[in-house]
Amino acid sequence: MAEFADRSAIVTGGARGIGAAVVAELVKAGFGVVIADLRDEHGTTLAGTFAPRARFHHLDVTDEGAWQRVIEETEREFGPLAALVNNAEILDFGTVETESPDMFRHVLDVNLFGAWLGIRLTAPRLRAAGGGTIVNVASTAGLMGYAGISGYVASKWALRGLTKAAALELGSSGIRVCSVHPGPIHTAMTAGIDESIAATQPLPRFGEPQEVAAMVRFLITEATFSTGSEFVIDGGATTGQAGALEAS
Ligand code: NAD
Repeated sequence: MAEFADRSAIVTGGARGIGAAVVAELVKAGFGVVIADLRDEHGTTLAGTFAPRARFHHLDVTDEGAWQRVIEETEREFGPLAALVNNAEILDFGTVETESPDMFRHVLDVNLFGAWLGIRLTAPRLRAAGGGTIVNVASTAGLMGYAGISGYVASKWALRGLTKAAALELGSSGIRVCSVHPGPIHTAMTAGIDESIAATQPLPRFGEPQEVAAMVRFLITEATFSTGSEFVIDGGATTGQAGALEAS
C-alpha cells in the first residue's frame, strides 16, 4: 500500500509474540517499521526477514533517553512517524500478599510508565506529521480482575485509563489513541497456562497473535473515527456468564 510508504511505525516489544505479528501486519500495510525491544537477537532476526522495511533498535521502554534515540532513528530511516504500538510488557505471578513490592513497581514501570513515556515523546512527532495513531496493547485484565497477577491487572486498567486521557488531550492534533484487549493468545507469555481456562468462552480456544495484529492494523489504517475506545479480542471471554440460567 503506497499510502503509508513514506511513514514510519514503532512497535515496542515487537521482537516476538503479538508484537512480532503486528510488525508483519504493518510492513504488509506499507509502513517502515522499527522493532523496539530488549531482545536483541529475536529483534534482529525478525527485522532481517522484513528488510529493508523493518529495523531493530534496542529499547528499554522505561528509559527516556533511549526512547528519544529510537524515535529520531525511526524518522531518519523511514520518514515521519505515523503510529506507535505500545505492546511491551512483563507479567509477574503473585497475589497482593505474595508479590514483592519491587516486582509490583517493576510491572507498573514497564507496562504503564513505559507506555506513558512512549505517548509523551511520540505525540509531538505525530502532531508535526499532521496526525497519527497510538495503540496501547492492554488485556482483558484491563476490563476485569484476575487473581494471582495483581500488578499486571493494575497496570492494564491504568493503561486503559491512560488511553482515554491521552485520546482527550491529543484528538485535536489528529492523534487517535485506542486500546486493544486480548484474551488468552498463543505466545511465550501464555506457554505455561492451562488451555482449559478458555473452555467456557463462546469461542473455546486461545487466540493467535495474528488475530490481535489484524485488529491493531485496522485501528491504525482504517478506524479513522475511533479514539479513546476499547477493542476486545477475547473469543467472547468477557461477554458474560456461560450456561443458561434456570428457575429452581
Ligand atoms: P511476550 O512476552 O511474548 O512479548 C513481550 C515483549 O516485550 C518481549 O519481546 C519482551 O522482550 C518485551 N519487553 C519486556 N520488557 C520490555 C522493556 N522494558 N522494554 C522493551 N521491551 C520489553 O508477550 P505477548 O504475549 O506477545 O504479549 C504482547 C502484549 O499483549 C502485552 O502487552 C501483553 O500484556 C498483551 N496481552 C497478551 C496476552 C496473551 O495471552 N499472550 C493476553 C492479553 C494481553
